[in-house]
Amino acid sequence: MRPSEAIGIYFERAADQLDLSDNIRRLLLIAKREVQVQIPVELDSGELATYIGYRVQHNNARGPMKGGLRYHPQVDLDEVRALASLMTWKTAVVDIPYGGAKGGIAVDPARLSARELERVTRRFVDAIHDLFGPDVDIPAPDMGTTADVMAWIMNQYGKYHGFAPACVTGKPVDYHGIAGREEATGRGVGSLTLKVLSRLGRRIPGTRVAIQGFGNVGSHTARFLQDAECRIVAVSDATAGFHRAEGLDVGALVKYSQTHAGRLAGFDGGDPLTNAELLALDCDVLIPAALGGVLHAGNAEAVRAPIIVEGANAPTEPEADAIFDRRQITVVPDILANAGGVTASWFEWVQNRQHYQWGIHRVRQELDRILGDAFEQVWHLSTSRGVPLRTAAYMLGVGRVARATVLGGVG
Ligand code: NAD
Repeated sequence: MRPSEAIGIYFERAADQLDLSDNIRRLLLIAKREVQVQIPVELDSGELATYIGYRVQHNNARGPMKGGLRYHPQVDLDEVRALASLMTWKTAVVDIPYGGAKGGIAVDPARLSARELERVTRRFVDAIHDLFGPDVDIPAPDMGTTADVMAWIMNQYGKYHGFAPACVTGKPVDYHGIAGREEATGRGVGSLTLKVLSRLGRRIPGTRVAIQGFGNVGSHTARFLQDAECRIVAVSDATAGFHRAEGLDVGALVKYSQTHAGRLAGFDGGDPLTNAELLALDCDVLIPAALGGVLHAGNAEAVRAPIIVEGANAPTEPEADAIFDRRQITVVPDILANAGGVTASWFEWVQNRQHYQWGIHRVRQELDRILGDAFEQVWHLSTSRGVPLRTAAYMLGVGRVARATVLGGVG
């Protein structure tokens, strides 16, 4: 199933519960603007390479559009379109004054040198600099992009429009970024994992957690949950996977990844396991924190964790979601679970615009408050309406966007 189809199904479920008219549904589903651009660059070898870049600006009823930029060979327009709409519902679930957007370049960053990656990024900004900006659409990191990429974006944008640090978030702390942004998505996934465990009456110390993906989201989630006395019994990335029933040493994994170009292959602190084995592991919480579509009709029955917290965007296909619902597996959906990143991005944007800096404690405190409030609202809606957490989260997000759209006037 295409990613946009899957998200469309979740949207329709919420729209049915909210009794939205067909006309409003159509307005909310169609993106405001979709662009595809050519990115020609000279490689270090002197050869010419041409990549395709996308930016989809889905909805701005609640504020400037906001969303990550993904560098991955499989990026295509449908995926970016789906992820852009997800951002619209996500910013609304946590009630921050943004709409939704997403971008991507079909490129494998691992195959390019840092200089080549910088050239690709700057050429992309050359192609779309008139279409984004602090009051219009603000990119951020996503899979395959880092704080350095965000710094290049700000710098290249500034060549056209002058000093405007708020044109992009997730920047390095030494280059107009903020302390606490990099860890924010993982911190949010971790803190919401603790909330759902408490709500379900489960003991936190010793909770067995399996995490797929050990990049920004996976590694910070692992650290946060280990600090909360959970046991990280399995992790995997694109190169390897490891299991240790007593709990892996997250500090050692992070150090290994940092000294091995972000890869876990060769780590010797656990028994090897495949991604399929990780997803089906006997554990208490499963956290997909890598690619979309990894939980599907073919493997959902094999999942043994009673709780899934979606660190990645769109990791669960609708058929799998229905199976989890029938099996009474609690799923904390992406638009709530990983909203910590965009929330801290909002803090960065606010500070850039005010030319003022908060301390790390304020960032963490406000992040925990906003995510905690959103969790309680979604939990309450889920129990009062008798719907899964995902439908409740979509109801909250879609309902807010629909009301803002009508209040703004559509004529
Ligand atoms: P990242 O590039 O930092 O890390 C991605 C990780 O996934 C890496 O460890 C990589 O090796 C692993 N991976 C890739 N293919 C894999 C495979 N086939 N099997 C297992 N692991 C694989 O990316 P990230 O920023 O951590 O993003 C991860 C997910 O979280 C994405 O779905 C992204 O959209 C979502 N997300 C990220 C943020 C953020 O702030 N970075 C915010 C919200 C959601």
